[in-house]
Amino acid sequence: MISTTILEQLHQVETPLYYYNLPLLRATISTAKKAADQWGYHIHYAVKANNNPRILQEISALGLGADCVSGLEIERAIAQGFQADSIVFAGVGKTEEEIRLALNRGILAFNVESLEELQIINEIAKMMNVQASVALRINPNIDANTHHYITTGLDENKFGIMMHELEDCLALICAGESALILVGLHFHIGSQITDWSVFKRLCLKVNEWNTWFIERGIVVPILNVGGGVGINYQNPDGEPMVNFSDFFALFHRFLEPKREQQVHFELGRSLVANCGSLISRVLYIKKGITKNFAILDAGMTELLRPALYQAYHKIQCIAPAETKGDAKEIYDVVGPICESSDCFGKKVSLPVLVRGDLIAIRSAGAYGEVMSSRYNLRKPLQFYFEE
Ligand SMILES: *Cc1c(COP(=O)(O)O)cnc(C)c1O
Repeated sequence: MISTTILEQLHQVETPLYYYNLPLLRATISTAKKAADQWGYHIHYAVKANNNPRILQEISALGLGADCVSGLEIERAIAQGFQADSIVFAGVGKTEEEIRLALNRGILAFNVESLEELQIINEIAKMMNVQASVALRINPNIDANTHHYITTGLDENKFGIMMHELEDCLALICAGESALILVGLHFHIGSQITDWSVFKRLCLKVNEWNTWFIERGIVVPILNVGGGVGINYQNPDGEPMVNFSDFFALFHRFLEPKREQQVHFELGRSLVANCGSLISRVLYIKKGITKNFAILDAGMTELLRPALYQAYHKIQCIAPAETKGDAKEIYDVVGPICESSDCFGKKVSLPVLVRGDLIAIRSAGAYGEVMSSRYNLRKPLQFYFEE
């Protein structure tokens, strides 16, 4: 919910703009942290969901680790207060430069995605005369029941070490001259997962894999089960945060770590999505033959998710209530970009709109700002932080 005082201030500012509700962010992070602490679980915030320095400062201040997917994310995470030894580094295509940087910084672990990557990390670590802590990312072949573009845990996806490469990975790690230390197993099966039976299946798979390693005499210190918790895009005010307590309790119930094994999570969307809204102004109302268009000053260049994977975001008119009657109209809410996919929502019921009305596109705090582009040479984004 955006308060009336804030609304008044938003009317003064230039749009399009990202509005971030920092009190809600802090409440979400603290709630998640407390729920995880209850079982001794660790959370790494997935920086790729939102790397705004202000957001990172808030999250690092509350004691979370970070999950990074590039060298520059590692640099920024450290600059904004995350401890280097709380950072895990994922991604199928780490460059030599990024590997050297991560080794220099002393991160917690590389989440390794292929045998060849493991070989390169080993070579670079040897050359630098340091040891590299690695977690092996295992693809558990679980269907996350989410959009196929954000499913990552199936055999057909590019993520994780292939089954037939695993024995070779172990041989390399255990070889006498190896610079590698195996610190964990890593899993991440997709994003925006709302069917939690998927997480139960993940736990059972992780147990199987853990047993597979234990049978080979290896008890890895960390079981990292990734992220992917889905949020309620339909009702961001009714359910501003997911039930973290239930989420972690599910893992406590089904995951069977050995007493000395730590359990780690990598949460992105569920920590930041509902804390952000994209605020935009209506530029024009166009009456079409079969429908009306509300044309906004924000488009896919500011928020790509609807164009990229038909993602739903709640769209609200936030013009002062006294200026709006009860009458509703149905609109296709579109941006100004020269692409037909530049559409935020079809057949959206809104108060009768006029040029200049403010529109909030909700739950835009994750995979929003970070995916913005300068296509059409758009002007830089504006920000408003509610303190
Ligand atoms: C993107 C990603 C996450 C975070 O996913 P969310 O759905 O935002 O929670 C966690 N781990 C890895 C490896 C990722 O790529």
